[in-house]
Amino acid sequence: MVRTVGVSRFLVVGAGLAGACAAWRLAQRGHEVTLLDRTRPAAPDGSSHGSARILRFAYPEAGYAALVVRALDGWRELEAASGTTLLTPAPALDHGAGRDPRALARVLEEVGVEHELLSPSEAGDRWPQVTADGEVLHQPGGAVLDAERTVHAAVAEARAHGAQLLTGWPLASLERSGHGSRARFTARAEDGREVEAAHVVVAVGGWLPDVLGRLGLPPSFLAGMPPVVVTEETAVHLPYAEEHAHDAWPTVIHQRPGELPVYALPGGRDADHRGLKVAQHAAGQRVASAAHRSGVVDRAAVARVVAQARQHLPGVVPEPYAETTCLYTSTPTEDFVIDGADGVTVVSACSGHGGKFAPLLGELAADAATGDAPVPERFTVS
Ligand SMILES: Cc1cc2nc3c(=O)[nH]c(=O)nc-3n(C[C@H](O)[C@H](O)[C@H](O)COP(=O)(O)OP(=O)(O)OC[C@H]3O[C@@H](n4cnc5c(N)ncnc54)[C@H](O)[C@@H]3O)c2cc1C
Repeated sequence: MVRTVGVSRFLVVGAGLAGACAAWRLAQRGHEVTLLDRTRPAAPDGSSHGSARILRFAYPEAGYAALVVRALDGWRELEAASGTTLLTPAPALDHGAGRDPRALARVLEEVGVEHELLSPSEAGDRWPQVTADGEVLHQPGGAVLDAERTVHAAVAEARAHGAQLLTGWPLASLERSGHGSRARFTARAEDGREVEAAHVVVAVGGWLPDVLGRLGLPPSFLAGMPPVVVTEETAVHLPYAEEHAHDAWPTVIHQRPGELPVYALPGGRDADHRGLKVAQHAAGQRVASAAHRSGVVDRAAVARVVAQARQHLPGVVPEPYAETTCLYTSTPTEDFVIDGADGVTVVSACSGHGGKFAPLLGELAADAATGDAPVPERFTVS
């Protein structure tokens, strides 16, 4: 039995976007950090693998739009520090009455984000690849973020600030001794390896339901946690039609009234640079946790997305050349959880829209773990 004992002030469990950025921000503040993952950073069976997520500003609430603006500083900082391009500019478009582009435009006006409302024909002139469903909200500052590169950049920055990375290290149990400022934790893997720390940040994405009850969190905290649901989402890659193969593609969110939004974005590396990644938001099948994912593509979800592409994305051939599943970990309000008690901080439930906030999530996680600054109330446990 191998018994490697590491000791550090902060232990971050899970090296997806949330954990990698938390480790980066903690190490950057001069703390001793160990970051561990059951497999490796940006685990292929987690939520932060691959090359493409949408960065857009349009949210029905000004609070979130303002947080995207705040997150941008962190993106620029991580790009500069790592010398890696993490954001590829791509205008963001919203259309369909269910999305209510006019209401979203009012929010962007309030927050001071550059935008314009276009008539369907104006939008069609600029992006003939998209058939508008009513008015179109255009955010020129949108982008596609490279999730996997971001994780690796954040891990590299954390290590550059002295953090230790342990891969192939599945946390099996967490044992506490002492309370308050005297709390000490021993994290154990099933094979007996141990890491000790004074504070633990848990960012295990869709594995949270398996782990939450084993962290020694007080019953009052657990009682206040919103229910966290893991769903297996289906996404497809649709090839660019020949005449649009070299177009500058926007990202698109389209929502009909009473339906879930369908989003589309240039798939980049994931799609062999040949097509658009298209999926319906939060339409997936519920699973008990990431450990229970089936990997089975939902045929009905594929059919819905293809039907919508046929009507509203004339720039692609509506025949998938690749299909995949990915995990959402969501709360009922789609608000994240960045809170903890007694030396353990939970950073989770990125609810299918957390990618764009990654550097900020790291900052807020570090704030919550250290007590350096308050975390926005919407992310705390009541
Ligand atoms: C299909 C899809 C599309 C999305 N689109 C967008 C988008 O367009 N825009 C946007 O902003 N966001 C988007 N998101 C959301 C974004 O990708 C997620 O918010 C983000 O990846 C969540 O990261 P995470 O670190 O919480 O989880 P993960 O990336 O899953 O990381 C958790 C890590 O914890 C590790 N782990 C688990 N259990 C243990 C254990 N016991 N011990 C040690 N390690 C453990 C895992 O191996 C994993 O590496 C999308 C997500 C999906 C799935």
